[in-house]
Amino acid sequence: MIVAPIELILIRYGELALKGGNRTFFEKQLVDNIERATRDIAKVKVYRERGRMTAVLKSHPERVEAVARRMQEVPGIASLSLCIGAEANPEVLSNIVNTELLARLEFALEPVTFRIHSRRADKRFPLTSVQLDRFIAERLPESLWSKLTVQMKHAELEVGVEIRDDRAFVYFERLPGLGGLPVGSLGRVACLLSGGIDSPVAAYLAMRRGCRVMFIAFLSPPYIGEGTRTKILSLVRKVGRFQARNEVHFVPFTAIQEAIRDRAPAPYRTVLYRRMMQRIASRIAWRNKGRALITGESIGQVASQTLENIGCIEAAAHMPVLRPLIGMDKQETIEIARRIGTLDISNLPEPDCCTVFMPPAPVIRGRLSECEAAEADLDIDALVKAALDGTEHLILDSRDA
Ligand code: ATP
Ligand code: MG
Repeated sequence: MIVAPIELILIRYGELALKGGNRTFFEKQLVDNIERATRDIAKVKVYRERGRMTAVLKSHPERVEAVARRMQEVPGIASLSLCIGAEANPEVLSNIVNTELLARLEFALEPVTFRIHSRRADKRFPLTSVQLDRFIAERLPESLWSKLTVQMKHAELEVGVEIRDDRAFVYFERLPGLGGLPVGSLGRVACLLSGGIDSPVAAYLAMRRGCRVMFIAFLSPPYIGEGTRTKILSLVRKVGRFQARNEVHFVPFTAIQEAIRDRAPAPYRTVLYRRMMQRIASRIAWRNKGRALITGESIGQVASQTLENIGCIEAAAHMPVLRPLIGMDKQETIEIARRIGTLDISNLPEPDCCTVFMPPAPVIRGRLSECEAAEADLDIDALVKAALDGTEHLILDSRDA
């Protein structure tokens, strides 16, 4: 749609600016993440300047739109615009705006709301930003007047002009980003990933808050087959694209479930499975520099997720357990899952290991003292050690097929 060649991508980031002394650290992390996320498309160089970033394609300039689309999935970016570069000269800028608008509105049947928005980082430029807005507006060709209605807020078309040094950049669109914070800027966490709808969404929300997420999944062969493992890997690739490199740990859980089946009261099975998961996940996380666990739990969604049971489960963890979905309705979670592309994978009918030896009447309001009594006959340390020894560790690049 844009007629002149795109010269760069202007990147806006909101919340980073609030981080005071850490600002440079956050910015560098974002630059790094953007360059990594796009490098399979083109060689992209990102520059930091005055509360914004600009990205230039050092190879494959024709792939700029694909690069911009990829950037829309990098946490920490508020919005971005494809920019045409020009000399910082009011006449030249006005000509670019006119040419582009004529091309864009050639077939417009109804008036489009628009605004002109200039920013002047370089005070040597002869006009103030308000004067430049007016200069451009007054020179719009007559044939466009009937097609444009000025609207300052939420205009459909934003004609943006940024002046910096002797260069200027013009854009006509703001593409929304994900917002949030750059992955890696707030440390590492481990997500307990089942094949369900919730935990991939929880992982995504943690990434969006700046956490690098590793994945831990518990499998129970032969009761739970290869299908579940394949499903988990597809989920990791899908949700992992927001952080590029992904670490997955598959923990063998069969022996633990059999021990619990044989030595603990049936109603406590599910809660005890989960307590073992917390113990093992805490250790895997810790060894890999993770400092919190993430789960897809929310309050009251299934019988096992009462406050009492959540309390019993968390008591077995050795680090904070974060639950990004805690206050969400199922429908809200499903919407996010659809948007990030994990829903269809989660809906594949592969069982989760927690369904193995499901008791007829699981405990709804568990008590910690009863959990501990129920575990009295289990050799917890030996079970945990065997599971850790048998854990399979994989590194995936989400861009691989
Ligand atoms: P999900 O949709 O994520 O499976 P859910 O609503 O089905 O969640 P539960 O089955 O009670 O809820 O599981 C609660 C949480 O426990 C999951 O979100 C996940 O974080 C963790 N979990 C459950 N099963 C496994 C598993 N086999 N491997 C790793 N984590 C698991
Ligand atoms: Mg589940």
